[in-house]
Amino acid sequence: MEKEPNPYRKYFPAYNHPTAPPIVYLDNAATTQTPTPVIQAINSYYTAMHGNVQRSHHRPAAKVERQVAQARQRVADHLNAPSADHIIFTAGTTSAINLVAHSYGSTIEEGDHILVTAMEHHSNLLPWQVLTKQTKAKLIIIPITPTGDIDLEAYEKALTSKAKLVACTHISNLLGTVNPIATIIDKAHAHGAAVLIDAAQSITHTTIDVLKLKADFVAFSGHKAYGPTGIGVLYASKEQLAAMRPTHYGGGMVTDVEGHSHTLAPPPYLLEAGTPHLAGIIGLDAALSFINNIGQEAIARHLHALTTYTLQRLAALPAVTIIGNPRERVGIIPFTLKKTHPLDAAILLNNANIAVRSGTHCAAPLLEALNHPAVIRLSLAIYNTRSDIDCLIERLKVL
Ligand code: PMP
Repeated sequence: MEKEPNPYRKYFPAYNHPTAPPIVYLDNAATTQTPTPVIQAINSYYTAMHGNVQRSHHRPAAKVERQVAQARQRVADHLNAPSADHIIFTAGTTSAINLVAHSYGSTIEEGDHILVTAMEHHSNLLPWQVLTKQTKAKLIIIPITPTGDIDLEAYEKALTSKAKLVACTHISNLLGTVNPIATIIDKAHAHGAAVLIDAAQSITHTTIDVLKLKADFVAFSGHKAYGPTGIGVLYASKEQLAAMRPTHYGGGMVTDVEGHSHTLAPPPYLLEAGTPHLAGIIGLDAALSFINNIGQEAIARHLHALTTYTLQRLAALPAVTIIGNPRERVGIIPFTLKKTHPLDAAILLNNANIAVRSGTHCAAPLLEALNHPAVIRLSLAIYNTRSDIDCLIERLKVL
């Protein structure tokens, strides 16, 4: 029996699946479940006659053209971007960051500095490792404090006139830390450096106002925000957008082509060569619309209350050590157990139909800095309930 009915669960068919065993799904930082409006949007794209974008002059093509324009506008509105032209569709956060590394990256020269934090996901570390090696620039990794916060003093010290780019996660996918992104951006700008925000986790947990933040780049994925996989977004500011060169060439990104030359289309199209993931774009539009219909404040309130409850219940278990205690956090909570290895714990929890993640969480350098070979991570979404947490706690008691 559900102790407190969850008003959002009814939208998620995974919870009503006739054959699936009931699963306590607490791995939302990896990917979220998909609500009916998103599934329906993708379904109707494929079941109705559909066309391609920017190519054909018939009704199915015109319809998808309108749908993509609507999606681009919805993403722009969601981020408070000045216009839809600032929104580039990508395959996800990883490809959005790599697009910046390859495009903006061409402005990086020997001796320049690129700053990241010690809490980056591999997707926001490896592209900069490779770029700095290729260009003989320097990669500076800003340390974190024992609580799991960015060391702002070290950050300020590392920021010099050589700093060209700060690539920083908004919310840590391992610690749940909400970084003081406005401060990080202001300080970077004061030294003439641009900032890329990895918003893979923050897109569902908080609002992102690119104008207020004066963000240069923002990257996120659809599948962590109740949308489909294979679709993501790169937002780029007017100044950065004007400087971005294509990394891929092909159809849909030119206005004119001759045998030996071509004229590039204006942004964002010059950065979207080839047929986009149209069903994914339509699904992402439905996902953001779903979030807006519930309301970001209502989502944040639900997640905040459940996070507080989860932390209290975990802290009461003598065998549990919660990793980090950041100043501001969301419901992404890493922990270890006294007697059970994280990998064993995840398997034993899975045997009890509880889904958590264990391992290094694509943040191996962070775990090394924290001196843990692996941790268990639970992460919350709107369909989670106190009963889910109670179920987890009961099982943890015997591990
Ligand atoms: N950055 C962060 C903070 C993440 O949590 C993730 C996904 N775990 C990524 C980047 C990469 O996202 P994707 O795999 O969807 O490209």
